[in-house]
This record gives sequence, structure tokens and C-alpha cells, in this order.
Amino acid sequence: MAYLTLKKINKIYPNGYHAVHDFNLEMEKGEFIVFVGPSGCGKSTTLRMIAGLEDISNGEFLIDGKRANEMGPRERGVAMVFQSYALYPQMTVYDNIAFGLELQGADEDYIDERVRSTARILGLTDYLDRLPRALSGGQRQRVAIGRAIIRKVGVFLMDEPLSNLDAKQRVTMRSEITQIHRETGATTIYVTHDQTEAMTMADRIVVMKEGWVQQVGTPRELYFEPANLFVAGFIGEPPMNFIRETVRDGRISVGDASLDLRHKLGDRLARYEGKELVFGFRPEAALPGERENAYVLRAGVELTEMLGDNTNVYITMGGEQAILKVDPHDTPETDSAITFSVPYENVYLFDAATEAVIK
Ligand code: ADP
Repeated sequence: MAYLTLKKINKIYPNGYHAVHDFNLEMEKGEFIVFVGPSGCGKSTTLRMIAGLEDISNGEFLIDGKRANEMGPRERGVAMVFQSYALYPQMTVYDNIAFGLELQGADEDYIDERVRSTARILGLTDYLDRLPRALSGGQRQRVAIGRAIIRKVGVFLMDEPLSNLDAKQRVTMRSEITQIHRETGATTIYVTHDQTEAMTMADRIVVMKEGWVQQVGTPRELYFEPANLFVAGFIGEPPMNFIRETVRDGRISVGDASLDLRHKLGDRLARYEGKELVFGFRPEAALPGERENAYVLRAGVELTEMLGDNTNVYITMGGEQAILKVDPHDTPETDSAITFSVPYENVYLFDAATEAVIK
């Protein structure tokens, strides 16, 4: 049985705004789930409903098979790490971490043991006597996480916990949180708008847009088998290239190339005649030159960006723009004409009307 179950969860705020629609999810014990999507898509609202900080308007929330809609936050056994981690400035790291257990009136020896083992997991053992102001941003964030994980709760909820850190600290903390999760095995839900955080940290990702779940899957599934145009464009950097064209005689034109869609659509080709499709391929799917079992395209090079391990090549094909990610040794000249191939298996077709992927 799933540990957490969300069945058709909806949130309608008192002002009438419908922020979350029919959210379904089953989560196993120990899983690390990331909710990702653009700002305002309903991630925090869903997290707060799970935490018990926000009423569930509609639907059912179960913890270990028991209805939890009416349970208070404490009863649910969840701990939350917020975006702005307010540490007590006059209290040492030790006291900040111990605070929650002290409030509960826990035994002093027990508190001491828990503070020390939590500090060990977080690499804070040498900092227990310091005040928060004598810590780096990353260390402060670890103290905030320590305050949550010192209580042995069933579920950790994290709402954009890295957003106050600089880029370098974020990368470090990302792997630290993954490491902490591995050591504690705690069931975790993590909210972010950053697809890289989602891809690098999650066991499974829930992609949201405008209050609706778009797809639930492992990072691999979302990357290689996106359900729709939104997920395909949201996951991956630079994003997937999209070219919108109408099917004529079973073909679409991209620049001066005429692409036979039979290779992708087979028997279903006739169904799409005269319809608009989106032809998608990832920047890294492009191979130099003409290849077998691939769509061959010709383009003009507008701009190149050498990034060290690869080069982003901004191209144009008769008014269509795209980005290719190439080996820096293959970097083409600006304004030159190039030929490249995208293997059939790396091409995605989407129905332009429904935005769903065509399988
Ligand atoms: P996210 O976490 O994905 O950025 P939120 O869950 O915070 O998104 O918000 C989802 C939507 O609900 C947003 O459009 C937001 O403006 C709206 N919203 C959030 N809180 C309230 C509230 N208390 N009353 C009305 N609308 C709200």
C-alpha cells in the first residue's frame, strides 16, 4: 500500500481561485518526490495541503491508508523546511536544532543524542557552538534542515529550500540533500521551479502547469518519454526544439528539407493529413552530416556559444529557429550553412491541437 495517497485533490481559495485541479499521486515510503513547474502552478498550495497548513477543498488525502484531511499538522507526522529559514539569531546551532524537541518536552539525554547525530549527518558537528551569523548561507540552510529532521517524522516537506543561496551553494546543497535523504531514508516531497534540481534529486517528478498535473515519472521517463509539449519543453536545457508545420502529402517542410513522416507515423499517417503537428528534437540529438535512418536538415548558423564541454549553435531553417548542442571541436562558423541529421528515434511528434505526444 502507498504511504501517502492524494486522490483528486482540489484547492479552491476563499476568493474563488481554483489553484489545484484533481491532483492524484501515490507515494511510497522513502521516496523522494519533486513537484516542479513554473511559479504559480500550485506546487506550494499542494504541499501546504499535505502539511495541513491549508484546507483541502475537495478530494481525499490518506496517510498509511488513513484519511488525513481533518488531521492537524502535528498529527500528520510531517515536518516542513521553508524557503526563508528563520533561525533564532541569539541561539547557537545546537540550540536551534534542539528547539523542536525541547518544545515537545523531550528528555535531555535524548535531545543531546539526536542533536549530535543530526549534526553528524549534516556535517555541522564542528559548528554546534556557533551563532547563525557566523555561518555561511549553505550552513544555515543545513541547520534549518536539521531542525526539521531532528524530529522523527514520517514525511519531510521542503518548499524551495535553496532559493536564498547563490548558484554554487545551490549545487552543493543539492547533492547534500540527496545524501541526507539517502542516510535518513525519509519520505520527502520537495518543491522547486528549477528543472535541474528536479532532475538531479528526484526519484519521481510531478510536473505541474496552471494547477494541473502534466506528468508523473522518473527523471528518465520525463526526459525520454514526455507526455506532452509542456513537459518536453520544460525538462531539458537548452529546451527541446519545436517546429510547427502542417502535414501535406504525408510530409512537412522544414527550411528546404521535405520530411517524410511515414517513418514516425506509419499507418497513422493519413489521420494527420492536413493537420498541424509539432516536430520536436533535443539540441543534443543533432548529428553532423547526413545519416541513415534520420531526418536530414539544412540550416544557417546565426550564432555559436562555446561553453567548454559543448557548443550551442543557434540556427535558422527558413524562418524556423532551433538550437543544436555540438562537440566544441565541431563548432561551425557563424553565417555558414550546415547539414545535420536527427535519428528517427530521437524525433518527437506532438498533436498541435491537443499538445499530446503522438506515440
Ligand atoms: P507555486 O508554489 O507553484 O508558485 P502557489 O501554490 O503558491 O504556486 O500558488 C498557486 C496559485 O494560487 C497562484 O496563482 C497564487 O496566486 C494562488 N494563491 C496562492 N495563495 C492564495 C490565496 N491565499 N488566495 C488566493 N489565491 C492564492
